[in-house]
Amino acid sequence: MVGDMGAAPVDFHCHLDLCPDMRAAFDRCDRAGCITLAVTTTPKAFGRNRAMAATTRHVHAALGLHPQLVAQRAGEFALFEEAAPSARFIGELGLDAGRRFYPSFELQVQVFERAMAMCARLGDKVISLHSVRTAKQVLDVIERTGAHRTCTPVLHWFTGSGPEVRRAIDLGCYFSVNEQMLKSPRGRSLLEAVPLARLLTETDAPFQSETDGPRAPGDVDGAVRLIAESHRKRVEEIRTSVRATARALVEE
Ligand SMILES: [Zn+2]
Repeated sequence: MVGDMGAAPVDFHCHLDLCPDMRAAFDRCDRAGCITLAVTTTPKAFGRNRAMAATTRHVHAALGLHPQLVAQRAGEFALFEEAAPSARFIGELGLDAGRRFYPSFELQVQVFERAMAMCARLGDKVISLHSVRTAKQVLDVIERTGAHRTCTPVLHWFTGSGPEVRRAIDLGCYFSVNEQMLKSPRGRSLLEAVPLARLLTETDAPFQSETDGPRAPGDVDGAVRLIAESHRKRVEEIRTSVRATARALVEE
């Protein structure tokens, strides 16, 4: 489809390499003209994602070390440091204080802080960030490392409080939002606070669980519709805005 790329979707946080058929997931996004940020959970996984993204026009691979895997994979940090200088996109990084991952919290903070300090030093990175029950701590690390001054943080599935959302806006953060989070009261108040120019859509595929079935990569129609309702604009205007925002970040 060439005629109407202005309306093509944006999926700024999904795990194409964790979908049942990775190649098919890359192709699906690319064929749809979907500007896609394919995040990774371990530095080891980055190479094959980057190689596959290079065969597409619209999929961009990000170098990550997921906070839920830090306990087992902190040893791969050297690989992260090695790949970071040549990686324009970083993620998934962040913190997770959910009950299962709380035991590794201290280690998560150390790894996250080192990764963000490195991004801040290198500059010009777009960074997709996880912040389960750690909105304040994630914003603290962004601020302490100065990553917001040289890079673009994108808060994925952010569920912080009203004041935390405002603080993130003031720090220059972007927000990638999905249908499931936008159906919650926190998601709705986030939409009321965040300017349209800072909003991106995502699926977090294959992890978003909807009552009417999981969302495939690039399937952001529901999220777009909820943004349109909240901002009292037409769906097409939202698509165009999100597209323009994503385009500027990936320089497509
Ligand atoms: Zn994710």
